[in-house]
Amino acid sequence: QAKKQGKNNYKFYSSKELEPNMNPIKLEMDLHKAIHKEELILHYQPKVSLKTGKIVGVEALIRWNHPELGTISPGDFIPIAEETGLIIPIGEWVLYHACKQNKEWQQKGFKTTVSVNVSARQFTQSNFDETVSRVLLQTELNPQSLELEITDSMTANIERTISTLQNLKKLGVRISIDDFGTGFSSLNYLQRFPIDNLKIDQSLIHRMESNMNDKTIVTTIISMAHNLNLNVVAEGIQTKEQLIYLQQHLCDEGQGYFFTKPMPANKIMVTVFEIENVVKDFGLPQDINE
Ligand code: C2E
Ligand code: MG
Ligand code: MG
Ligand code: MG
Repeated sequence: QAKKQGKNNYKFYSSKELEPNMNPIKLEMDLHKAIHKEELILHYQPKVSLKTGKIVGVEALIRWNHPELGTISPGDFIPIAEETGLIIPIGEWVLYHACKQNKEWQQKGFKTTVSVNVSARQFTQSNFDETVSRVLLQTELNPQSLELEITDSMTANIERTISTLQNLKKLGVRISIDDFGTGFSSLNYLQRFPIDNLKIDQSLIHRMESNMNDKTIVTTIISMAHNLNLNVVAEGIQTKEQLIYLQQHLCDEGQGYFFTKPMPANKIMVTVFEIENVVKDFGLPQDINE
């Protein structure tokens, strides 16, 4: 049983109670082999412009098809990968496959940006920028078509973070701050970071409906980001009300189950076409303002 394994392992159970046989030690052993056994797979979730209704990008989200346990979500194995250092090879696997997939889409005429989540442990590797550069060369993807998502948790060493970000910007890739609004970091670093996007954490978006303060926080983040010349993305949009509120308050882009869940690569192009039609029927923020 999960809890019987003691306090030290309990941190693995952050998001939800795992099945009893999802023992972290077994998971760790299995995870070592997962890349070679081709059990890892990327799903992609579209990112929609709230101004035009167009799909402006897709985010790569990893899943693990475990032979006995079925699909395991990243919340349940990324912490193990971070703890053991396996995030380094897994992270590179994600980067390579996301870039390769995007290159294929580009060649088929679907011009998009792919976003890749980067863990603190990957980002703080001294050669992280070289890895990114190598993958871009290997996959021949235009650097502007790659976006890296980092979180505030990486901002412990501000000077070092800034220098890594500068090296990445020199390569031409785009940078987003993910899960913004949940950490405790100083807002001061934002204006010093060479970043492009701010992604508002989904917990804030979900609470907007019931909590006036959260509405205020969201609109404040949007104006602050715009004052810093950053593009703002709302994560986890699930309802029409959330979408309309965000459009009216000039949030630039959104992601969420309201548009679509993450899906395998082969479904993306068809779905993108469908979503763009739904959003068109639904109405654009220009209509609201007129
Ligand atoms: P994230 O980067 O903030 O990704 C958003 C998460 O919210 C995804 O969960 C996505 O499926 C989910 N989501 C999207 N729209 C909605 C919505 O409307 N409602 C709800 N309830 N959820 C929504 P997922 O795929 O389980 O990933 C969880 C986290 O795991 C990600 O959060 C990211 O931090 C991490 N992760 C995922 N893939 C990778 C990866 O390749 N590398 C690393 N280092 N971390 C990853
Ligand atoms: Mg993300
Ligand atoms: Mg997020
Ligand atoms: Mg995250």
